[in-house]
Amino acid sequence: MKKLLPTSTAGSLPKPAWLAEPEKLWSPWKLQGEELLDAKRDALRLSLQEQQHAGIDIVSDGEQTRQHFVTTFIEHLDGVDFAKRETVRIRNRYDASVPTVVGAVSRQKPVFVEDARFLRSQTDQPIKWALPGPMTMIDTLYDSHYKSREKLAWEFAVILNQEARELEAAGVDIIQFDEPAFNVFFDEVNDWGVATLERAIEGLKCETAVHICYGYGIKANTDWKKTLGSEWRQYEETFPKLQASNIDIVSLECHNARVPMDLIELIRGKKVMVGAIDVANHAIETPEEVAATLRRALQFVAADKLYPSTNCGMAPLPRDVARGKLHALSAGAEMVRRELQV
Ligand SMILES: [Zn+2]
Repeated sequence: MKKLLPTSTAGSLPKPAWLAEPEKLWSPWKLQGEELLDAKRDALRLSLQEQQHAGIDIVSDGEQTRQHFVTTFIEHLDGVDFAKRETVRIRNRYDASVPTVVGAVSRQKPVFVEDARFLRSQTDQPIKWALPGPMTMIDTLYDSHYKSREKLAWEFAVILNQEARELEAAGVDIIQFDEPAFNVFFDEVNDWGVATLERAIEGLKCETAVHICYGYGIKANTDWKKTLGSEWRQYEETFPKLQASNIDIVSLECHNARVPMDLIELIRGKKVMVGAIDVANHAIETPEEVAATLRRALQFVAADKLYPSTNCGMAPLPRDVARGKLHALSAGAEMVRRELQV
């Protein structure tokens, strides 16, 4: 990126009410068949236009074609039975009824590649595409086949690598892996989590990112945050390993989070997507608040490596709130850009 402080979002944006019920995760589609396919594309166009209108530099599909950032990818794989459900504890935090791994997992055909090609055809701006990371995928399933979290993660890494290579060929500039599970299972992250992530990016020439956050603004997550004390030092556990990895960009939660900003020092040398927008409340940040977060981050990351972003996806927010937050992100980044260029 030549532009200083290029803005982006962590991933999802709200869907229009004609596509899926708003302000809800796993919201069911309102249409079917051909109509649904058309509607998803229209929503993608709209989501892109809203990002462009807000002045976002690195754009995405707003995840308009997926119901959920993890399960939609898994739905397209063999070896997982969605009818056979078990209740598991996700990220040690909340119980959810999840599908079961019943055999060897594999990807028979591309999952998001057509969507990425479509987004590429709609814009010349840099595009970022989000995929779930291996550890977050295994944490959203019940496994009755491999019976080993690590083994299943390595299998998913191979599948993600196949998908990522095709996304790169479709013209995606940055491929991002969402790993909120990295903020919970520290021993596993250090034993094999980062290694499986590196397997997922093997051979890629485009830029790669890992997004590690404290989750959407849903009750289970906000309740969990209340138990984390006055300083959230989770990143401290995984940053040394990430700093030594081949991942280019680390996407973090910062604004309104109790994450000590100086932890960013531990990934010195990486590009950092700094979350300057809180996705867990409806208050729209002022450009000054965004700028203040970015200025604090600049103490620990070089200006040419700082990418202003959101804390997490904005799928569960009302559309006008998400739109306002995108505009605030742009305006705040522009304030700091001007200060840096004098
Ligand atoms: Zn997130």
